[in-house]
Amino acid sequence: MSDFPTTARVVIIGGGVVGVSTLYHLAKAGWTDCVLLEKNELTAGSTWHAAGNCPSFSTSWAIMNMQRYSLGLYAGLAEEVDYPMNYHVTGSIRLAHDKNRMLEFERARTMGRYQGLDIEMMSVSDMKDAYPFLETHDLAGGLWDPDDGDIDPAQLTQALAKGARDMGASIQRFCPATGVTQVGDEWIVHTDKGDIRCEKVVNCAGYYAQRVGEWFKPYGGRTVPMTVMSHQYFLTEEIPELKEWTEANGRKVPLLRDVDSSYYLRQDKHGLNLGPYERNCKAHWVMPEDPMPADFSFQLYPDDLERLEWYIEDAMARVPILGSQGVGRVINGPIPYAPDGLPLIGPMPGVKNAYEGCVFTFGITQGGGAGKVLAEWITEEETEWDMWAVDPRRYTDYTDQDYCDRKAMEVYGHEYAMHFPHHEWPAGRDKKLSPVHDKVIAAGGVMGAYNGWERANWFAQPGDDTSHEATQTWEREGPWAERIRQEAEAVRDHCGVLDLPGFSRFNLTGDGAAEYLRGKITGGLPKIGRMNLAYFADNRGRILTEVSVVRHAEEHFTLITAASAQWHDYDVLKSDLPAGLELVDHTKDFSTLIATGPKAREVLTKMGTDADLSLGWLTHQAAQVAGQDCALLRVSFAGELGWEIHAKNAKMPALYDAVIAAGAKPFGMYALNSLRIEKGYRSWKGDLSTDYSLLEAGLERFVKLDKQQEFPGKTALQNEKQQGGKKAFAMLIVEAGAYDAPFMSTIWQGGTVVGETTSGDYGHRVGKSIALAMLRPDLAAPGTEVEVEIFGQRCKAVVQEDQPLWDPDNARLRS
Ligand SMILES: Cc1cc2nc3c(=O)[nH]c(=O)nc-3n(C[C@H](O)[C@H](O)[C@H](O)COP(=O)(O)OP(=O)(O)OC[C@H]3O[C@@H](n4cnc5c(N)ncnc54)[C@H](O)[C@@H]3O)c2cc1C
Repeated sequence: MSDFPTTARVVIIGGGVVGVSTLYHLAKAGWTDCVLLEKNELTAGSTWHAAGNCPSFSTSWAIMNMQRYSLGLYAGLAEEVDYPMNYHVTGSIRLAHDKNRMLEFERARTMGRYQGLDIEMMSVSDMKDAYPFLETHDLAGGLWDPDDGDIDPAQLTQALAKGARDMGASIQRFCPATGVTQVGDEWIVHTDKGDIRCEKVVNCAGYYAQRVGEWFKPYGGRTVPMTVMSHQYFLTEEIPELKEWTEANGRKVPLLRDVDSSYYLRQDKHGLNLGPYERNCKAHWVMPEDPMPADFSFQLYPDDLERLEWYIEDAMARVPILGSQGVGRVINGPIPYAPDGLPLIGPMPGVKNAYEGCVFTFGITQGGGAGKVLAEWITEEETEWDMWAVDPRRYTDYTDQDYCDRKAMEVYGHEYAMHFPHHEWPAGRDKKLSPVHDKVIAAGGVMGAYNGWERANWFAQPGDDTSHEATQTWEREGPWAERIRQEAEAVRDHCGVLDLPGFSRFNLTGDGAAEYLRGKITGGLPKIGRMNLAYFADNRGRILTEVSVVRHAEEHFTLITAASAQWHDYDVLKSDLPAGLELVDHTKDFSTLIATGPKAREVLTKMGTDADLSLGWLTHQAAQVAGQDCALLRVSFAGELGWEIHAKNAKMPALYDAVIAAGAKPFGMYALNSLRIEKGYRSWKGDLSTDYSLLEAGLERFVKLDKQQEFPGKTALQNEKQQGGKKAFAMLIVEAGAYDAPFMSTIWQGGTVVGETTSGDYGHRVGKSIALAMLRPDLAAPGTEVEVEIFGQRCKAVVQEDQPLWDPDNARLRS
């Protein structure tokens, strides 16, 4: 016991592939004084029984990045750490049953190509050549991922463990963590073998992560949003035809994924391994009569092949040799799901010096990249790539267990589903309702969830098709298209009203509040009675967040940010808040209406107000409107004359009735997106992310390098200003055809990749498809011609002047 560590820089709780990869990456970064605690033997959780498939494919840029990194790491790991592993890179074929699926593949292919992956589209005959046992008569085509394959998950974990140990890190097996205590900024992690004092602690406890997360509640933590699902695969006996083919060709057949039918089929020795994600799926340990055991190490659930029947039959029709032999081994194991199916990687919400690397559904293929990302969070407090897609702070307080369970069942049952741009998933809805929700629904609101808040995406008229089926398209056109145009035109010609509950809203007060903010933001503060946009940068000068700063008094501010940013921005603001300043989150107490359009002043006058409606753009005032106390902010994300009406929830119904009675037309989030993109207004975590610096993103007017305060990122931005950035922001008009440019569409000039889009939409006021783009700086000059690759088609696009496409002088905004 004497060599049991009593101190460490970092303690990692959990020795599955993710925890061990994190230890390995910390050691690689020079943080060798780190300890991993594993309650049983390494891999005892989900890792030991995983099938070990390692795709790079994803339709998420961040996830693809992480998986791409993993596969590169795994390819060289055995040699690097001198630990042989079974890693078969067989390539994989994804099957497409229809055109929509082919378009999804085109999109993944172009993203993959941009990341340096050799992903290819396949014709049906290519597929038959690559996989002779495949029935192809009803297929549209496929996708070839040459880097896909399978790895032995236990060997992978042991290899990472050897690498970590060789660099000096410590692994304590059969040593469960039993609790944590925060002491100042440090932690004591308790075990039966003794306590370990450390600077930082990481929850890598896999499907036990919610249980471990409970220990952090006294220190600001929340319930870890997750559900444990049961996931099965089975192995067949040896199949003679497969054996013969393998011996003749000296390799295995590629891995198959029939994503429309929802299963993978992989060669395992000379048999096949079938793993479905079934619609009629099963969550475990969610009911009181089925409690989670204290220890489930190396255990499985009972086989339940009945649930897979449809999938087995479908796969047998697709690859008839599958049916030629009986079932050998069945694996039915626990697999954790977060409500969106993506893992939690990053800072633990609300808890200082604590991190999460848990709730992985694809932890084998993501483990390598996840370790890199977590190690960066821990050692540098920022990551190379923007990782918001997996940041634990993307969820806030609405993720109760019922929500988690419903979403987990939905996501698991649709694991390979396409995520169409006008589709909203139905499970776990109505978690946070606007005070005028019923009125918005009565007006025809077709709703979407934004950080749990229900907002209208568009307003249907009687007879419009609002069915799920209608949304199953990548195209711009659909039942919503004409309504979006009408809503945008109402804002252009008259006055629209958007019910916008859920803005994140923080009040900052106290002596020194202004100086504190000046030391945090890149630009300046507004004068009393005014408001402005402010940006927070990370240490590399990249965009951390964007905040509307409303100044009430010398030392009194309201900070308003995106709904989804609530916990992220609270962390950013709170992280080193000086004693004496008070930061209060008022998000739930208030709501917002946006009244905007050239007739907005008349509408407000008609509503009855004592406000001074002659006050200019970027002012704010307390006022009475329609007899209700509220704050009027003279801004418009739609780029027209307008006010945001902020008021306590109880005031909202009367305000909404009055604004409608005064003639304002309801509009939705889709119209708002179309309107904002014409103005070149960026949206958080689409256009504004830590993938770009403020200077690259064209936000120089919000950066005051000559101010005396040493705000984060100042030195990096000073250097970048002298040396130039790698990218430059540009607005493009795109000859887009049926689809507007999605996030991260590749931009070409000639045969060279020169940038990417960060958002795209159709601008109804200018009558053009628009994209916001990050280009090679020498190509950002107006008039430059480029091509945007949209679902595989290269569409001509032209760089526009560095000004809004609509109302370039902001005359309408200021009118
Ligand atoms: C049937 C099946 C097939 C799968 N196939 C694939 C696949 O092909 N590809 C893929 O990418 N993914 C696959 N997965 C998912 C994959 O298994 C997981 O995503 C991955 O193993 C998660 O790794 P982890 O390190 O996060 O968690 P785990 O492997 O569960 O590790 C968590 C560890 O924490 C330990 N622990 C818990 N509490 C404590 C404590 N208090 N103190 C100390 N230690 C503690 C546990 O003992 C455990 O070892 C599959 C899953 C299943 C169920």
